[in-house]
Amino acid sequence: MKKSSIIRTIAIIAGIYIIGQGICREFFSQRIKNLDDLQRILKEEAMNIGRIKESKDIYCFFGKSPWGTAASGKIRKGQYLLILDKDRSRTAVRHELYHIFRGHCDKAYEVGEWTTFDKIKNEITARLYADYGLRL
Ligand SMILES: [Zn+2]
Repeated sequence: MKKSSIIRTIAIIAGIYIIGQGICREFFSQRIKNLDDLQRILKEEAMNIGRIKESKDIYCFFGKSPWGTAASGKIRKGQYLLILDKDRSRTAVRHELYHIFRGHCDKAYEVGEWTTFDKIKNEITARLYADYGLRL
């Protein structure tokens, strides 16, 4: 077997594992039924991730957004929003909080839009935090 096909096989298996694990975590993670649920989970998860950064004002909304079933963004200095609908779970809250606490939303606010590299890097690192608790 060639070295390139071994690397390709490992990459495919790793990709399937990571995506499958993420889907399982999302599927079996605690569902968000209403705004009270979202606010309680946001508070719990913000305390966990907040240990690595200062606290932030996060306004949450329960419902669909123009950006899909889960979204986060910066409103102004120190203020952020988080939007989730009933199809999402605690894992999605963790994912969006990672974007907020790691400065992904700050960068999008300052420059207007992430670069393609930022999109890929930010989504992968937020996914790894949401699924495995890794803070890269
Ligand atoms: Zn994301």
